[in-house]
Amino acid sequence: MTAKTTARLPAGAKARAPQVLAALQTLYPDARTELQFSNPFELLVATVLSAQATDVSVNAATPALFARYPDAQAMSLAEPADLEPLIRTIGLYRGKARNLAALARLLIERHGGEVPNDFEAVVALPGAGRKTANVVLSNAYGYPAIAVDTHVGRLARRLGLSVQTNPDKVEADLGRLFPRDCWVFLHHALILHGRRVCVARKPDCPACSMRGFCPKVGVTQPAGQP
Ligand code: SF4
Repeated sequence: MTAKTTARLPAGAKARAPQVLAALQTLYPDARTELQFSNPFELLVATVLSAQATDVSVNAATPALFARYPDAQAMSLAEPADLEPLIRTIGLYRGKARNLAALARLLIERHGGEVPNDFEAVVALPGAGRKTANVVLSNAYGYPAIAVDTHVGRLARRLGLSVQTNPDKVEADLGRLFPRDCWVFLHHALILHGRRVCVARKPDCPACSMRGFCPKVGVTQPAGQP
């Protein structure tokens, strides 16, 4: 599900979108989430933990966490203080421990211990939001969805696909520009490009295969320049 908007798209965005998609398909043909999980519950927990933290830090912590708390039933019996030692290497771990304990209880109370296959139900879980719901539904249940994190938002603006800063509005713009069956790929590929080339502080425009058509909105000092 994408957010709705009637705001104007940047000039040239509709012509640029297919060029962006083709470039990303060449660069990252196998783009997928880098979070490690083996079922929807693990994906939900990993996604909640990944807020303002790296996937690497989450993947380092989750094997021990899932060994101790393999499902919602087990985690629903935990107090936040039980979870904290297992996730303390991840940013904001105290708040995340509180959210995970509450989330697991809610899964038991309302959803029979399963991660709901329903956007609004996932959004309503503690520590979740549109981004989490989109990540979980797209990766666990195959829903077409675009989860807008800091990389996706930044690249959408630099590439002239959206002028919005609100993630929900960026999501809506991307949803208007790209076919539904590309949304999940687009999300993962933009994240990879944002981590490897179009990084926040000094994007490597001279080495970027999209430099020929990218308007580089807001980029003042690409890598390699003094
Ligand atoms: S040309 Fe520069 S601003 Fe545009 S996507 Fe590539 S690295 Fe980012």
